[in-house]
Amino acid sequence: MEVIVGKFAGFCAGVKRAVDMTEEVVKNSKDIYCLGEVVHNRQIIDKLETEGLKIVYDIKDVPAGSKMIIRAHGESEVIYELAKQRNIEILDTTCGNVIAIHNKIKKARTDSFIIVIGEKNHPEVIGHIGFAGENYYVIENEDDILDAYMAFEETGLSKVYVVAQTTFSSKKFDILEKEIYTNFIEADVVVDKTICNSTEIRQAECARLAKTVDYMIVIGGEKSANSRKLAEVSKENCENTYFIQTVEGLKNINFDGSKKAGIMAGASTPDYIIEEVKKYLEEV
Ligand code: SF4
Repeated sequence: MEVIVGKFAGFCAGVKRAVDMTEEVVKNSKDIYCLGEVVHNRQIIDKLETEGLKIVYDIKDVPAGSKMIIRAHGESEVIYELAKQRNIEILDTTCGNVIAIHNKIKKARTDSFIIVIGEKNHPEVIGHIGFAGENYYVIENEDDILDAYMAFEETGLSKVYVVAQTTFSSKKFDILEKEIYTNFIEADVVVDKTICNSTEIRQAECARLAKTVDYMIVIGGEKSANSRKLAEVSKENCENTYFIQTVEGLKNINFDGSKKAGIMAGASTPDYIIEEVKKYLEEV
């Protein structure tokens, strides 16, 4: 079978940097803690844990005086304060794009109601609202807009500043942006579409590729928001879309009669997994 791998499949610059920095520090020191998984990829996490990385989900589980990695998604302002109080040394791998959003929110929070368009439980979104002060709302779906407006009205503020989770669907963002303008009609609304370029480029390429193949394979971790979005985009353009984590996910699929397959991979998928999937499909 002919197999086409998307040019933008796999690690984005931010995740690559976070993984490289983590690998380096784990190699050279002991007792390194990471707040959450540095990348949503089981194989990489298993390897780092074997080499001594300790993954914890609460800063209370990081002993005072030790070293802690903050991953590419970033963390709330309070985490930096707690680390300082407990003399925890931070290795900060927060992506530059995420830091830029934190800085914008910090500036806007002095006189604006902050809206983050994103998934309510996504760690990056939790990090963003951790810089927003008290006046904020997370909008994930159209159903949230009325509640967001009511929360805004209670603050007595007149300005609204809107940002996005960097890996949010661009199409869904545009729909929600229109709804915000319609519902916050009397407010002074500033929208900053902070979706990362690499996410948009990958989603656009995925849609284009999916239109031209019989089968589309999207590789990514189950917990990876950008990978799940890619699978959604792919499914809209190619009925035969499969979302897998490793080559094992292909073993029960019958590719009989198909001539061309496309591969796209989320930002946390290492190259070697993409290669394994490609090889398997080429031999089908
Ligand atoms: S998707 Fe973009 S913002 Fe997110 S980690 Fe990667 S480069 Fe940074």
